[in-house]
This record gives sequence, C-alpha cells and structure tokens, in this order.
Amino acid sequence: MKRQDVSCPICSADIPLNGDECAGDEIYCMYCGAPCKLAQVQDDGDELDAEEDF
Ligand SMILES: [Zn+2]
Repeated sequence: MKRQDVSCPICSADIPLNGDECAGDEIYCMYCGAPCKLAQVQDDGDELDAEEDF
C-alpha cells in the first residue's frame, strides 16, 4: 500500500498524512502553515501498480 504524501506548494516540504484525510480536505504545512488542498486520489491501482508477478 502506498502512502500519499503532499508537498507544500510554498516551501516544498513533505507533509505527512495521517491517513484519514479525504480528497478535497485542507491540511496545513507544519513548517510554514500554508494550507494545502488535497487532490483527488485515484487508488484503484490498475495503472501504476500494474506489475506482473508470474
Ligand atoms: Zn510549507
């Protein structure tokens, strides 16, 4: 399972998510306090996670 991290648009810091945020939520950068709106997360897992394990 992949963790969604958000990069602050202001200071480019990585903002760790607790995991219970929803798409469209606003979270605040812990460094500069800038609000960052979460993008829609597409977690269907059939595009980037297309790995073949035979
Ligand atoms: Zn920031």
